[in-house]
Amino acid sequence: MAGPGWAPPRLDGFILTERLGSGTYATVYKAYAKKDTREVVAIKCVPKKSLNKASMENLLTEIEILKGIQHPHIVQLKDFQWDSDNIYLIMEFCAGGDLSRFIHTRRILPEKVARVFMQQLASALQFLHERNISHLDLKPQNILLSSLEKPHLKLADFGFAQHMSPWDEKHVLRGSPLYMAPEMVCQRQYDARVDLWSVGVILYEALFGKPPFASRSFTEVEEKIRSNRVIEDFFAHPWVDLEHMPSGESLARATALVVQAVEKDQDGDAAAALSLYCKALDFFVPALHYEVDAQRKEAIKAKVGQYVSRAEELKAIVSSSNQALLRQGTSARDLLREMARDKPRLLAALEVASAAMAKEEEAGGEQDALDLYQHGLGELLVLLAAEPPGRRRELLHTEVQNLMARAEYLKEQVKMRESRWAAESLDKEGLSESVRSSCTLQ
Ligand code: ADP
Ligand code: MG
Repeated sequence: MAGPGWAPPRLDGFILTERLGSGTYATVYKAYAKKDTREVVAIKCVPKKSLNKASMENLLTEIEILKGIQHPHIVQLKDFQWDSDNIYLIMEFCAGGDLSRFIHTRRILPEKVARVFMQQLASALQFLHERNISHLDLKPQNILLSSLEKPHLKLADFGFAQHMSPWDEKHVLRGSPLYMAPEMVCQRQYDARVDLWSVGVILYEALFGKPPFASRSFTEVEEKIRSNRVIEDFFAHPWVDLEHMPSGESLARATALVVQAVEKDQDGDAAAALSLYCKALDFFVPALHYEVDAQRKEAIKAKVGQYVSRAEELKAIVSSSNQALLRQGTSARDLLREMARDKPRLLAALEVASAAMAKEEEAGGEQDALDLYQHGLGELLVLLAAEPPGRRRELLHTEVQNLMARAEYLKEQVKMRESRWAAESLDKEGLSESVRSSCTLQ
């Protein structure tokens, strides 16, 4: 079988060059048509030797399905050929590689990118499902990208796909267990819906960098799926945010944080005091929700109003010193950029960081800025880890710390605004006007 280190096979009409990848039963090469068009294609070579009855059927299914369909997010089969050794699928070339590599070189994908990819994947799947075709082996390795400049997803590798018929239940376990629906792994009986399970796993991997059941062996995945261990992570998840649920303790926790905030304020540590006031506010809002006594509610609101005004003053102090720091950072940043000239990846990551800073200045640009910070910092941290000791490393280290501090600060700003909204919406429930005006942190 043609593996790494082997010369690519020969095929009439094409020049096969580099190996693009290999998977379950094939090796895929980049190739040029010998015709004047010099068209670039990808050729999937399946050694006949390796084909038992089942894989032969897979291949024929793949050919039959791909030949019959054309969709912007499904890799196009242009032609197929065979000789005494191999069967060749001549396909549209996807210059961006596969989604697995795309995710892992970026560590994780920003939510916005993941969403666009999900739309594209969904449109391909809807198209297939309308035609009674299931993919059955959806995973990042089987999803390709048209290019890196303007990446579009292209669904590929229809080896396991088949026309789904509810009457044909002779299924065998196929595909990769990490992305497989439990009924596929455990009951060996499934239908078209398993593709949607895999979509969920792929989305999770895009956002968190690894699939939810990441394991080293098949047995380990199966154990995880079958295990009845309680999923404690759910209770600790920031979105559920059990910690800030309105309860009898909310007020005490808010007050304790205010005490700490006042101490820091007295010590002259404006940033720490601001951060503590914000944390306190996160408990005051649920405390207000929890309180039923109208008079006590008013009393809490009056206090919150005072803390919010102090937080606002602190915010002004912190942001003016941040501006000064930002100006100080400029020359070091220019120098770092100069020293990154021979390293396009570093330069690109620094660009993302600059874009984040620019967005931060725009009205209403906070969330975009945060996404950019997250993306830029993800890259910069990887680069920093690989950077050899020296001046550039020192500068990069400082820059990463600066950026993290900015992103952290920005996150707090966003949270503070959200708390304000929460307090305002309490007001709209028919409560006093006074808090609304004092809670306005702008
Ligand atoms: P298998 O059936 O052996 O899993 P695939 O069709 O999934 O084969 O291809 C294996 C790998 O080759 C993919 O994961 C991808 O990295 C690469 N590849 C496949 N098709 C193309 C293509 N059209 N353009 C670029 N790379 C491709
Ligand atoms: Mg594959």
